[in-house]
Amino acid sequence: MNQQTIIETTNVTKIFDSSGLTVRAVDEVSLRVKAGEFVGLVGPSGSGKTTMLAMLATLLRESDGTMMIDGQDLGAMGERQRTKFRREKIGFTFQANNLVPYLTALENVELMLRLNKKNGRKSRERARELLTRLGLGDRLNNLPAQLSGGQQQRVAIARALIHNPSVVLADEPTASLDTERANQVVGIFADLIHEEQRAGIMVTHDLRMCKYVDKVVQMVDGKIARVITERTDIELLAGTSEFDRLDKPAPAKQKDPISWEAPPLRMPIPVYGGAD
Ligand code: ADP
Ligand code: MG
Repeated sequence: MNQQTIIETTNVTKIFDSSGLTVRAVDEVSLRVKAGEFVGLVGPSGSGKTTMLAMLATLLRESDGTMMIDGQDLGAMGERQRTKFRREKIGFTFQANNLVPYLTALENVELMLRLNKKNGRKSRERARELLTRLGLGDRLNNLPAQLSGGQQQRVAIARALIHNPSVVLADEPTASLDTERANQVVGIFADLIHEEQRAGIMVTHDLRMCKYVDKVVQMVDGKIARVITERTDIELLAGTSEFDRLDKPAPAKQKDPISWEAPPLRMPIPVYGGAD
């Protein structure tokens, strides 16, 4: 039996127009991700990875093409519908982890459930379990400021998974982690995606992390340049220093007066929308 397709984009394009400059950040990308499939999205800086994730997270609208998640057309939804859809169906963590500074680790994770009005004793238990599984069992009541960057990132991962979303999106989840921790976190992340049958996409600069994914999609200049599905090819990629080749900065194709590295994206804040 074929697994259910959760994400299906067809010729999706995103054009940014700023001060007379037109950037085709994403250029006719067609991508499918099935339930229980974990995809690694790689490519040079500026190749459109974050823009792609932001569109899938319904934080940005596509300029052209269609994006379907769970059989629903994202482009056909109004803003309120998109906010509801995002809260219920999408989990994400971006480079800037957007934890609420005055809530504890546990409360930050539970916040997602509260937005969905699904908080209760059982949900709190799941939040605890998830944080414990991510190695934060003794940090539940710490504020973000009392956690290391890596611990904060793991709280953000728990928050991305807590509400049982169909789709989980992670932008550079290991950027602030050492190698050992990165392996642990991505390993657990992959296990959870597989066990709970989510459709997962992880952007990573660290090709070694590709050993945890089922498919590698490489973007260059907004387009999909390569898709790797053979296990042996993925292992080869994860085990080599091809990292250096894929990751070198893209040649400056346009002058952009703003740095997009931090924060990675101009996105509406708060990212999951406020209370209705
Ligand atoms: P990546 O995540 O692969 O590094 P991005 O998706 O962040 O790439 O960016 C792709 C291209 O789109 C880059 O040229 C970037 O400068 C541009 N870009 C991204 N966001 C915006 C924006 N809000 N306004 C204008 N240009 C943008
Ligand atoms: Mg990016």
